[in-house]
Amino acid sequence: MRTSMTTTTREIHLAQRPTGLPGPETYRFVERELRELREGDVLVENIVLTVDPYMRPRMNDVKSYVPPYKLDHALDGGAVGVVVESRSESLPVGTVVRHGLGWREHAVLADRYATKLDLNGLPTSYFLGVLGMPGHTAYAGLFDVAAFQPGDSVFVSAAAGAVGSLVGQFARLAGAERVVGSAGSAEKVALLTDELKFDAAINYKDGDVMGQVGAAFPDGFDVYFDNVGGDHLEAALEHINERGRMALCGSISGYNDPKASGPRNMFKAVGKRLTLRGFIVSDHESLRPEFEQKVGQWLRDGDLTYNETTWDGLDAMPEAFVGLLTGANTGKAIVRLREDPTA
Ligand code: NDP
Repeated sequence: MRTSMTTTTREIHLAQRPTGLPGPETYRFVERELRELREGDVLVENIVLTVDPYMRPRMNDVKSYVPPYKLDHALDGGAVGVVVESRSESLPVGTVVRHGLGWREHAVLADRYATKLDLNGLPTSYFLGVLGMPGHTAYAGLFDVAAFQPGDSVFVSAAAGAVGSLVGQFARLAGAERVVGSAGSAEKVALLTDELKFDAAINYKDGDVMGQVGAAFPDGFDVYFDNVGGDHLEAALEHINERGRMALCGSISGYNDPKASGPRNMFKAVGKRLTLRGFIVSDHESLRPEFEQKVGQWLRDGDLTYNETTWDGLDAMPEAFVGLLTGANTGKAIVRLREDPTA
């Protein structure tokens, strides 16, 4: 028998696989009954949802490190919510949790699939951003995958986004010699240099990425954190120093473009003895405690500037997702369904 008033939910299904940017025809909004809770289950009312770039390749029917989304099934992704009905001893009603059943207003799940959050006065959305998967990605990619050392010069692409904005700031806080980011507008470039304290930034939409990267690093750089692929990776291969390290994190320039081209100068990796390492954040779970401790401290000390772009309500998910893929976001893209619970 239900103890909360919630018996149905709205969720977003994949109605068809998109070509290029996902339009409204990609989705179907479905209202459905929530199943009864079994022993150990909780019913969560979602507060904030995330849209992330990896969701776009998951809409294609291709083999990857995560299975593709299924047609006519609910999409999923990160969410933070509050337990409103519980048959779990560890997650009583009122507990705030992070879990993987986003793209919907409510979720019923076993308690082992939800992580209890200690908000410590921080907004719930931070646990999908700076203290969530993107922050963890930036931390693991910079310090483990790219083996950052104090004194390194660092170039990061998609630098005004969730991951990139943190990579640049983490590098600066850890003693980088020079940090330069690329982003897609004059406003984002100004944000990087004025607020996030990057040493310089380039607007790739001004063209000549190759020339702009070279000019920004007269003495080259040691680490490239690649979120974009394509022209950015090509420019990085050209201008990175000998024995430089590249963390290959993402390739967003190709996610909506089946004809996207790769770098034409891969041979530079040979002569320069480069290390290019792709990575997936979930392989770096062992770094999570260190990441949460270190980044939590930087946040408490006021050392990090953290931006979000927020859309409101489940109906805004498709718009938020296209916005993320086309650069409408600065910092983490978040969809808010309801106010945070008061402490
Ligand atoms: P962002 O917040 O950075 O949002 C994506 C940004 O990409 C947009 O804001 C846009 O900014 C930029 N962009 C879109 N198209 C292009 C293009 N053609 N060329 C250059 N920039 C473009 O997203 P995240 O921080 O969440 O993710 C950043 C990258 O990290 C993605 O590639 C993602 O797939 C990857 N990632 C990888 C993980 C892993 O485990 N390997 C985990 C998490 C993320 P602009 O206005 O500057 O164009």
